[in-house]
Amino acid sequence: MSDASSDTRPNIMEIDLGALDANLARIKGLLAPGTKIIASVKGNAYGLGLSEIASRLADGGVHSLTTGSFTDAMTIRKAGIDTEIMMFGGALPSGMATYVAHNLVPTVHNMELAEAVSAAARKPTKVYLKIDSGWGRLGIPLKKAKQFALDVARLPNVLVEGIYTHLPFFDAAGMAFAQQRTGAFDALIADIKRAGLEIPIQQARSSAGILAGIKDACNAVSPGGILYGKSPLPDDVVDTSAFRPVTRAVRSRLIHVAPDAADRMPGFASRYAERVTGATGVLPFGRADGNRAPLPGRKAYMLVAGKRAPVLGVSSEHAVIDLSGIPEARVGDEVVVLGRSGSEEITLKDLAAWQGTTGSDILLMLSNRLQRTHVG
Ligand SMILES: *Cc1c(COP(=O)(O)O)cnc(C)c1O
Repeated sequence: MSDASSDTRPNIMEIDLGALDANLARIKGLLAPGTKIIASVKGNAYGLGLSEIASRLADGGVHSLTTGSFTDAMTIRKAGIDTEIMMFGGALPSGMATYVAHNLVPTVHNMELAEAVSAAARKPTKVYLKIDSGWGRLGIPLKKAKQFALDVARLPNVLVEGIYTHLPFFDAAGMAFAQQRTGAFDALIADIKRAGLEIPIQQARSSAGILAGIKDACNAVSPGGILYGKSPLPDDVVDTSAFRPVTRAVRSRLIHVAPDAADRMPGFASRYAERVTGATGVLPFGRADGNRAPLPGRKAYMLVAGKRAPVLGVSSEHAVIDLSGIPEARVGDEVVVLGRSGSEEITLKDLAAWQGTTGSDILLMLSNRLQRTHVG
C-alpha cells in the first residue's frame, strides 16, 4: 500500500466477489428452475461498489439489474454492462423521457408516469407496473391495479413487460402477512390475464420472501441484501448461516498513539475525556467516513493485533480507541473495524447492535469515502 489515497487516508473495505457468486448460486438453489433473478443493486450496490458487483452479477446470469438512481444506471452502462436495467420508482413524470432515451425500463406506479413514457416513446417501450399489496408504500393499490394495468397497456408505444410488488418483512408476524398478501397479488395477475393481458414477468419476493420460502405463482424474484450476505430476518426465523458476507473486512490504521493520554488538566475533563484512562490510539475513521459512536451505554470495539480495543469516541474525521491493553501498538498498525484479526472477529451484526441500526444502514453510511478492494 503506497499510493496517495491509501497513505493519506488508510481506510479500506475488502469485498469478496467469490462470496457474491456463492450467494447467487445458493439463491438459485432455493428457487424453481428457470426463475428469473432481477438483482437489486440500489444504493451503489448496497454500498459495495456498483461496477464490480453489477458486472459479477451480469456474469452470473441474472435476468436484469435494478436500481432507483439514474446516475447508478449510467455507471453500470459505463462499466460496459448491457444487461437490462429496470428502474425502481424515484422519478417524476418529466424524468421518463430520460429513461426512455437511455433504454432503461421504467417502473410506473401511476397514470402520470405511464402517460409520460408513452409521450416520450418512439417505438414499443417496456415498463414494469408496481403494485402496493398492503405495505402502504410506493405502488398502485391492489384494488385499483387491474384497471390500471389494462389502461397502461392501451397507451401507444407502451409494453407492459413486468408487474411486481415489494413485501419486505423482518419477523414471523410480517411473514404471515406477506404470505397472505402474496396470494392476493397472484390473484390480481390471474384476474388481469382473464381480462386479456398477459404480463411476461411477475415478481413478488425480495430477500425475506426468498429465504422464508414464501409461495407465489410468479416467475421472477428480486433479491438484494441476501446476495450480499445480509439477511433481513433474525436467525430464529430463518437460518441463513450458509450465505457468506460479501463485505469481508473494513480496516484502517493508527495515525497516532499516545501512551499517556490520561495526563490532562483536572477540571477541564469533558465527559469524553473522563473515559480516557490509559494509552489511546487515533485512526482516521470518523463520522464523515460513515463511522458512528456506539449508543449510550453500549461498548463498541475495534481489533488491533488480534485484541479488542474499546472505542472511546468518534468525531467527524477520527475515532479514538483505548490501547491500554495493547501496549505494543504503534503508528501504522492495522485496526480492524469489521472482520477478523487473530482469533477475534467483529461482524456487521456486532456493528449494527453497537450503533443501534441495521447492517444495511452501516454499509450505506460507509460507502461514500471508503476505498474498496475486490477479491475472489
Ligand atoms: C430493495 C428492493 C428489493 C430488494 O430487497 P432486499 O430486501 O434487499 O432483498 C426488491 N424490490 C424492491 C421494490 C426494492 O425496493
